[in-house]
Amino acid sequence: MKQPRVAYLSVEFGAHPDWPIYAGGLGVLAGDILKTASDLHYPLIGLGLFYHNGYFTQIIEDGKQREEYPYYHPRDFGMTEVYKGEFTLGDETVHYIVWRAMVGRVPLYLIDSELHENTPEWKTTTYKLYTADRPERIRQEILLGIGGAQFLREVYPGYDVWHLNEGHSAFSGLALLREFLIAGMDWEEALQRVRRHLVFTTHTPVPAGNEVFDVSLAERYLRKWWEESGQPWDKVLDLASVQTEGGLSMTVIAIRLAGLTNAVSKKHGEVSRNMWKHIFDVPRADDVPIFHITNGVHVPTWAGDQMREIMSDVGGEGWETEVDNIDFWSSVILRKNHIKLAKSLQKKRLLLYLRRMGVRWNEDDLIVGFARRVAPYKRADLIARDPDRLGKLLDQGLRIIYSGKAHPADAKGHEIIENLHATIERYGWQDKIVYVPNYNMDVASYLVGGVDLWLNNPIPPKEASGTSGQKIIYNAGLNISILDGWWIEGYDGMNGWGWEGTGDDRDAEALITLMEQAYLIYRKHKQFWWEMVEHSFLTLAPQFNTVRMFKEYIDKMYMKVKTI
Ligand SMILES: *Cc1c(COP(=O)(O)O)cnc(C)c1O
Repeated sequence: MKQPRVAYLSVEFGAHPDWPIYAGGLGVLAGDILKTASDLHYPLIGLGLFYHNGYFTQIIEDGKQREEYPYYHPRDFGMTEVYKGEFTLGDETVHYIVWRAMVGRVPLYLIDSELHENTPEWKTTTYKLYTADRPERIRQEILLGIGGAQFLREVYPGYDVWHLNEGHSAFSGLALLREFLIAGMDWEEALQRVRRHLVFTTHTPVPAGNEVFDVSLAERYLRKWWEESGQPWDKVLDLASVQTEGGLSMTVIAIRLAGLTNAVSKKHGEVSRNMWKHIFDVPRADDVPIFHITNGVHVPTWAGDQMREIMSDVGGEGWETEVDNIDFWSSVILRKNHIKLAKSLQKKRLLLYLRRMGVRWNEDDLIVGFARRVAPYKRADLIARDPDRLGKLLDQGLRIIYSGKAHPADAKGHEIIENLHATIERYGWQDKIVYVPNYNMDVASYLVGGVDLWLNNPIPPKEASGTSGQKIIYNAGLNISILDGWWIEGYDGMNGWGWEGTGDDRDAEALITLMEQAYLIYRKHKQFWWEMVEHSFLTLAPQFNTVRMFKEYIDKMYMKVKTI
């Protein structure tokens, strides 16, 4: 069977470190998927929004986060204007342009509404990624969903599998449904047709993380537009399970309209089936039709220069598409000395980067990285709950790098950053723990390439998958992580450190105990450390990359959806 052509819709894309169109893990995954499709010559295009202010630039001032919003234009990044469109919502006309950026051989189309023809509110709609302003947020999702659907139907009619990365783009499904209804299909027929077009990936294991819009807000923009389909507005409210979700749930719309839905790790699959059982008429959570495809990372992006050199040397031309093959990694780990040298050079690069910020650390220090979105459940302070034990490790040569942004509207997140800085100051750890401001893909490259150990300790099961720890595998580092997300599938007792989450106090105790063990091995049993690194490569590398992942998307989603 011919490979179905796919349009991949996402509110964020971490395709290039400088493009201001991503915030974190969801975007990095989307960017990694585009690059993988390019490597595999798969017919896929990306569709998202261009944000003139990006997410934001993080300044840390007196230990506090401040946000800045520089102005960006697509032409600054060599993007080309390729399309101009408009659609009407009741008596309002919305204008937009579409920019094209290239990600390898894959085009990424970005919708932009900054046009003088637009009313002031629509003109500034595509300014801030993850705006906290609800009307602005629904306008963004309307642009992506309705504008995006229009663009795809007109310019890319052959790309008829639409992959919705998270629920933000679910209005594209409504737009398709409306189109089929206007064309004269009855409700069931139209619904079935839509389901043969859409696949959906859910990423959010916490109910609060799912996008829900107030019905009045949705009605204000969408009711008249929808009623042109000849179907009552109530149909949309039913589809979105307004009764049980307390508003218009984008996740529920996406699940209902997609022919296939997947979660992003095995554990997250279980969590999602439980979480959404109530919208399906099934007796058991196991019967909920949500399966999983575990996330991975694009190895050529996330392996540091020296590690990539080894991979390319071993695999030759086209090695990028061999990374799901265990034999490839068996050959890589034969280069023991090369790997040690590569790690040492990448660590030096990180140390030099830190040196430019005034930090002076040594190559034989054990460097731990903790970098991610700052949110309470990620528990950035867990390792410092016992300052005596952490203090001892720091005195001996353990070093910690923190990095991460708090959402501008998240007061708790801001507080965490403040408290962390206060703790560092209180105990005089300024020389041993550093907070690198403005976490982004560039900062991440330095960190994942150079650190020895990557720490992750969220409250399970809130980490749907996580990918930052996967980047460590390909850089000859080790993971020390609570058993959640991808690590439940990856950890085997010998390829890093893991523990079951059982509550804050016990988790803090387990973590510092494991950290002491890791430190001892690093300091006194270096040979064993390297054996663990090799074992990490062999057991994890073939699995947690986007080649394995994307092939699963092809087989289990794209090939299947047209036949349901
Ligand atoms: C990889 C990456 C992420 C994802 O990190 P998780 O810890 O898996 O959430 C987020 N932000 C940036 C900049 C990244 O490179």
